[in-house]
Amino acid sequence: MPRTASAPKFVGDGQIVFADREYPDPGPGQLLLSVEANAICGTDREQYYDGSECVPGHEAAGTVLAAGEGTSTPAGTRGAVFLMDYCGTCRSCLAGYTNQCLAKRNDMGFTADGGYGPFEVVHETNFFGVPPELTGAEATLLLDVMGTGGHALGRITRMREDTESLFCSGAGPIGLGVLAMAKARFGQDFPVYISDVSPWRLRFAESLGGIPVDVREPKAMSQLGDIDAAIDSTGKTAVRESIIGVLGKRGVLACVGHGEGLSLSVSPDLIATERTVMGSEYFRYAEMQDNLDLLLTNREYFGKIITHQMPRSQISEGFELFLAGETGKVVIVGEPS
Ligand SMILES: [Zn+2]
Ligand SMILES: [Zn+2]
Repeated sequence: MPRTASAPKFVGDGQIVFADREYPDPGPGQLLLSVEANAICGTDREQYYDGSECVPGHEAAGTVLAAGEGTSTPAGTRGAVFLMDYCGTCRSCLAGYTNQCLAKRNDMGFTADGGYGPFEVVHETNFFGVPPELTGAEATLLLDVMGTGGHALGRITRMREDTESLFCSGAGPIGLGVLAMAKARFGQDFPVYISDVSPWRLRFAESLGGIPVDVREPKAMSQLGDIDAAIDSTGKTAVRESIIGVLGKRGVLACVGHGEGLSLSVSPDLIATERTVMGSEYFRYAEMQDNLDLLLTNREYFGKIITHQMPRSQISEGFELFLAGETGKVVIVGEPS
């Protein structure tokens, strides 16, 4: 039986109202989830200000309430929702690159209802089960924080096996994810320099083991010396250019933050120095298993990234708090239904 429930509606101009939403039964291959948690992301800003046809929320975790034909996930299973509703049969998917699917059905929370509502219908293929000891909020860490950060690091280390230092521009949720994944994977002694214009964010990153770089200081970047690898989460041309200025020979820059451009002098910037500049988008579904193992062994450390949990009824306050910039992850939690 389709069900009707009150769900947040993003009407634009930073207004979120509650309106009835009809949720269909899960079709073949699909699961109906009762959403437990959805983390607020900087990317939500666009839907917050411009409005959205569907219910936003792309960092969701929930419990299976009902399973459609041809599925094998039992009701009661808890897990996180991979944003991309990938096809599973195209060339990219068959090679494991589910984040580069050539026939993606949907982006959950953007073109299909996402996790700020009480329910979410997903394909079983983009649902990832987690053990019962993790909370819904903790399960969302597997998505943009650990998934996106870890994927960018993986792309860097595939280009450069002997990476011994990392610079991350931007200490927002993605930057924090990069920092935490680098520490968890390479050890607490691995140096991660992290910059931001916000003193609060710099202090927060420092509390997670990052070496703060206050870019309001004119010489802060030039004092870094040669950096092996960098990840840009700001999307700003000026920031990316300053990174090129401190990348050593064979240095690798992965751009994760969408936004502005970057112009390069190909001979000195790339050829003579054999540097790599690459993009990195979300992550591959298959990476979630390793990230779950990391989360379970570093649960307290990763848990620090979540600074606030607010009930669904206070989603507007949650957005205001998050957008004010002095938080880690703000997670909207719902009562299990
Ligand atoms: Zn996001
Ligand atoms: Zn595909």
